[in-house]
Amino acid sequence: MKKIEKPLDSGSTSFNSATKDKRLRGTYPNLLKLGLRASRLARYYDDSRGDPNIIRSAGLSDREKRAILYIYDNPPASMSYIGDLRLSLAGETCPMCGGQNPGELDHYLTKQRYPEYACLSYNLVPACSCNRLRGEKLFDPITQARVLHPYYDECLGRPLIDLRFDPSATPPVFKIHYMIGEADPDFGNVKFHVDNIIRKTNFLTHISKRWGKLKAQPDAILPKHRDYRDNKNQFHEYLAELSEGKSVDEGANAWSTIFLRSISNRIISDWIFDNC
Ligand SMILES: [Zn+2]
Repeated sequence: MKKIEKPLDSGSTSFNSATKDKRLRGTYPNLLKLGLRASRLARYYDDSRGDPNIIRSAGLSDREKRAILYIYDNPPASMSYIGDLRLSLAGETCPMCGGQNPGELDHYLTKQRYPEYACLSYNLVPACSCNRLRGEKLFDPITQARVLHPYYDECLGRPLIDLRFDPSATPPVFKIHYMIGEADPDFGNVKFHVDNIIRKTNFLTHISKRWGKLKAQPDAILPKHRDYRDNKNQFHEYLAELSEGKSVDEGANAWSTIFLRSISNRIISDWIFDNC
């Protein structure tokens, strides 16, 4: 999971033009009304920060819904922003889960339930295959906890979780530990996001493999660690700096950062110092 910049252009002007294009069979003339409302809907979405507790479905007809999903799957050249967004973070951290190399688009408000936002750039978040694992689960109307939105939730920019485990156990059981308190206004959303997105990915398996590799080949995971072996304090500082550097490069909640942050915990770093 990672905070990223919202696209500058909502895409609503291009969308409105496309709805008037008579050559677009499968679309014309079904979206003319929605095209006229597109910039108003974009503003409503932006003002509501995409929050499903606020945004009500616009109630499209079945014909409109089919047409907008068709245009999302087959965008004309004037709507190239959809394809551009999909590739915009190739090789980088996935904003939704924190894994690597997002190459898909996650409809934050799902396109089946909120089809009117299916082509709105603010609602399209580059994501990896975690996109397909979360399904329609978006929020809990009772508690109002919801999935975090990488364009709007500033808390994604600070460290939200790390892992607690007993380094001497084989294999250790990795438990997710929240770095924000339960009284924090973002806590409910962070926990909902972790339960409904992160836990559905192979995050814990990835961490477990990383730990196994560190024990087997510390040089592959911890560059130059042998230069920082004078004492446990120095080694702990080295791991903390490594984690900080990774946070700057890949984000405070990228999986690689979370791993380094977790092993720079004093109990773990002392164990690595003694055993690796
Ligand atoms: Zn992902």
